[in-house]
Amino acid sequence: MTSFDKRTAADPATASAAAPAETPFLSVRDLKVHFSTEDGTVKAVDGLSFDLMRGKTLGIVGESGSGKSVTNLTILGLHDKRSTTVEGSIVLDGQELTGAGDRTLEKLRGNKMSMIFQDALTSLSPYHTVGRQIGEVYAKHTGCSKKEARARAVEMLRRVGIPQPDMRVDDYPHQFSGGMRQRAMIAMALVCDPELLIADEPTTALDVTVQAQILDLLKDLQREFGTAIIFITHDLGVIADLADDVMVMYGGRVVERGTKEEVLETPDHPYTWGLLSSVPRLDASVDVPLVPIPGSPPSLLNPPSGCRFNPRCAYASEVGDGVCTVERPPLVLTAGRGAACHLTPEQKKTIFTDTVQPLLG
Ligand code: SF4
Repeated sequence: MTSFDKRTAADPATASAAAPAETPFLSVRDLKVHFSTEDGTVKAVDGLSFDLMRGKTLGIVGESGSGKSVTNLTILGLHDKRSTTVEGSIVLDGQELTGAGDRTLEKLRGNKMSMIFQDALTSLSPYHTVGRQIGEVYAKHTGCSKKEARARAVEMLRRVGIPQPDMRVDDYPHQFSGGMRQRAMIAMALVCDPELLIADEPTTALDVTVQAQILDLLKDLQREFGTAIIFITHDLGVIADLADDVMVMYGGRVVERGTKEEVLETPDHPYTWGLLSSVPRLDASVDVPLVPIPGSPPSLLNPPSGCRFNPRCAYASEVGDGVCTVERPPLVLTAGRGAACHLTPEQKKTIFTDTVQPLLG
């Protein structure tokens, strides 16, 4: 069973044939995150719904500004509350997080949910040893002694594969390599055994060998702790390696979702076709060209009406009558699988077979 198999009718942009069979660990419904700026309101996330089960990994893909990072900062309660309006519902293990106070959210962060950021160097303080920083998180949530906190830091460094952890625990971040710093940050994120881990492009700055080691580490840790993971990335190779389910975001909305196999092997939305056609594949013939998506992501201050992808979509004319520029396509899900697009299933099948599949090699 996938995390997407449990939709409810609570998402106004969603019609589902699947009935809930199991309580999701994280349930997001019709989430809207809007920022007030001098130039107007930025609709960073505009009606997002998804579920995540324990022990599963949800991959969120999309270009910069698609709303993926904002979604996760909002789940953690790390958004700027003065300038941000949050609507909808975020339920974590039965507890509603929207509207929850700072103290509640702070208690949940670390204990129940945790985040790995992209850049370990800016996330770790240069003034304190790695061990102290990991131990402090543990001590804050458990009230343990300094000695116990240090022992826990050593244990976590060992668990994430740092050699000689009982010595390296007293190193400062600059004494660690980039890969080791990332591991140290994972150790810090996992020190309180969080049940939800949000990883925001955690391997982007690393070389491919270290990246593979970090992904293996996350898989091992998930097996060990049963952690639910949200993995944010623009790298479809990482999605193929790690995710159970995939959510493709564009312009603050979900445009496609399904299992990893469904989305990567039989993509159903023109934006996903574009993403897949624009990345190199080791198994593709050298004769297959890479085709970038024309144009750039939409301004969320003044997003396009109708389908937000319409200014960049090569197939809007197939729908005809300017429908794509006027009507928002609903995300219609069947057993957790679907895409938000006005093309008919027959049109999509023809386009995919004749135009997209040859580009995927
Ligand atoms: Fe393209 Fe129209 Fe589908 Fe949007 S709804 S992806 S513009 S065909």
